[in-house]
Amino acid sequence: MDDRQFRSAMGKFATGVTVITTEVEGEIHGMTANAFMSVSLDPKLVVISIGEKAKILNKIKESKIFTVNILAADQEELSMIFAGQLKEHKEVTFERLDGKPVLSGAVAQIACEVSAEHVEGDHTLFIGKVTDIHLEDAEPLVFYNGKYRSLVELKPVTI
Ligand code: FAD
Ligand code: NAD
Repeated sequence: MDDRQFRSAMGKFATGVTVITTEVEGEIHGMTANAFMSVSLDPKLVVISIGEKAKILNKIKESKIFTVNILAADQEELSMIFAGQLKEHKEVTFERLDGKPVLSGAVAQIACEVSAEHVEGDHTLFIGKVTDIHLEDAEPLVFYNGKYRSLVELKPVTI
């Protein structure tokens, strides 16, 4: 099986888009990620999966904290900025949640402390213990088949 077939299959799983942030010695670093999942309610745990070549990997290992910012439908540009897909450098301002850097306008800001890390293949899974949450009433950005989308509400099934 080639890489393209694997990625095409994984791309059929529609996801939201997040920007993961962390901070080391006052320097904030962000990275776009869709490998994010809720893990446990008691205690409240989430998981993110970071590639071995990503610069943010060692920064999270060092800081032992990260935030997950679930992007809103109008934040496609932020997704591109933090995926390194824009040519020009754009200044981004951050807010704070539980002292950690978060993006304003995100549908959800989730502040975490690393509670465990597991190397699996060419990625590292970080389990985050959730320390604070902030929610906004907005529509999410969606990623499907390698493209950005927005949600369309379906009519309820009538029985
Ligand atoms: P860089 O590539 O250096 O940084 C990313 C970009 O963010 C750079 O352009 C940098 O200038 C900018 N940036 C960082 N900090 C700041 C700041 N403080 N202010 C302004 N700009 C800043 N990879 C994974 O490992 N896991 C995933 O789950 C994942 N999901 C993805 C989902 C989508 C939809 C996309 C498009 C990409 C995804 N990627 C994922 C790939 C990942 O986003 C890129 O490989 C990314 O470039 C890796 O970032 P980096 O940490 O190596 O740092
Ligand atoms: P794509 O077709 O490369 O990705 C489709 C799906 O495949 C993604 O949603 C993800 O589930 C999976 N995937 C892609 N690259 C992967 C990787 N290196 N490791 C594990 N799973 C991976 O979509 P695209 O729009 O071409 O992506 C843009 C860039 O972002 C590509 O360079 C891609 O590799 C990277 N990306 C990485 C991850 C990841 O590391 N988990 C996830 C999404 C996108």
